[in-house]
Amino acid sequence: TNWFSHVEMAPRDPILGVTEKFLADKNPDKINLGVGAYRDDNGQPVVLESVREAERRVAGSHFMEYLPIGGLRDFVSESVKLAYGDDSPVVAAGQVAAVQSLSGTGSCRLFAEFQRRFMPHSSVYIPVPTWSNHHNIWRDAGVAQNGYRYYKPETRGLDFEGLMEDIKNAPNGSVFLLHACAHNPTGVDPTPEQWQAMSKLMLDKSHFAFFDMAYQGFATGDCTRDAAAIRIFIDDGHRVGLSQSYAKNMGLYGQRVGCFSLVCDSAAEAAKVESQMKLIARPMYSNPPLHGALLVSKILHDADLKQQWYQEVGVMAARIKDMRGLLRHNLQQLGSPHNWQHITDQIGMFCYTGMSGEMVDTLAAAHSIYMTRNGRISMAGVNTKNVARLAEAMHAVTK
Ligand code: PMP
Repeated sequence: TNWFSHVEMAPRDPILGVTEKFLADKNPDKINLGVGAYRDDNGQPVVLESVREAERRVAGSHFMEYLPIGGLRDFVSESVKLAYGDDSPVVAAGQVAAVQSLSGTGSCRLFAEFQRRFMPHSSVYIPVPTWSNHHNIWRDAGVAQNGYRYYKPETRGLDFEGLMEDIKNAPNGSVFLLHACAHNPTGVDPTPEQWQAMSKLMLDKSHFAFFDMAYQGFATGDCTRDAAAIRIFIDDGHRVGLSQSYAKNMGLYGQRVGCFSLVCDSAAEAAKVESQMKLIARPMYSNPPLHGALLVSKILHDADLKQQWYQEVGVMAARIKDMRGLLRHNLQQLGSPHNWQHITDQIGMFCYTGMSGEMVDTLAAAHSIYMTRNGRISMAGVNTKNVARLAEAMHAVTK
């Protein structure tokens, strides 16, 4: 018997598929602006100095035993403080149930499963557009999905009215997925005032907010400011859910280190919720990996290392901001007829250029410049050496 003859080729992942095409291109001047991974001005991946130092400190000092199902305790408690704040009352009261996760993807997957088991009448409201993998994650968890308006193509900014209307029109008690900062793929975030209005309305509607925070520090360069939305919701009395990832802000992409938390009504409730999180994790992967969690906990525990890390996040965010300025400037110098202000208005790792799928195809075919077909540029891949070529190519395809 042939067991697998009916298996068809799966479609390429829209983001990771870009890397595959890039790797196959023989042009030495090719540029990969697909995946959201930070690069320095030479286009090289970066290991942060704070991470190097943490590696020196843990080297040889630990064994290779399993972590508990919920991960490294110190790592989890420091992560929760990083997001909710050192003096957060919900943290102090033990109301936060949390486990170490397999980075941001893993946290989202754990929550989606938790939602299916324990919030069974709810679908998830996902921003339009969003990170493509969100759709896969909630689909595989068997949770129905709805879109809510987020991005307005005409202004290349936030569709705040549409968003508020969709929050209002959703049935009471709906679950909303919110990007905590540096929205992927649009680079468009609500202002603090808009977050406040969203929080109030969601409270009136008894909605549940699940924050995906994959870029803490990458929006403003300041990890505390980037956690503002979560803290606004908590101050208003929301019981939120949260996915944290250290892939981008500590450059620990391949270590798969993150944290999943749910804010509960009491410490007693949190204990029950946390026990169920572990029951979900155990058959999926048994327990999370050790090394990255050790590094993160070393950094967050040590005041000097933490300070150094904060600074390094700031440097990465600032370089990206500089590249936004340069790209826009170059396009204007070339006499582009378009208004490229959104390149510098948008924040975080991505620029949602407004270029069409056909334009993206031409950029790849004629210029060896690769990005996702939604016209999203990973600004982290732009540097002083390739920005002029990128601007010329963008000008050529958008003239
Ligand atoms: N959420 C969003 C919005 C993202 O952009 C990403 C990374 N591209 C993730 C989650 C998860 O990334 P990771 O699993 O590597 O932490």
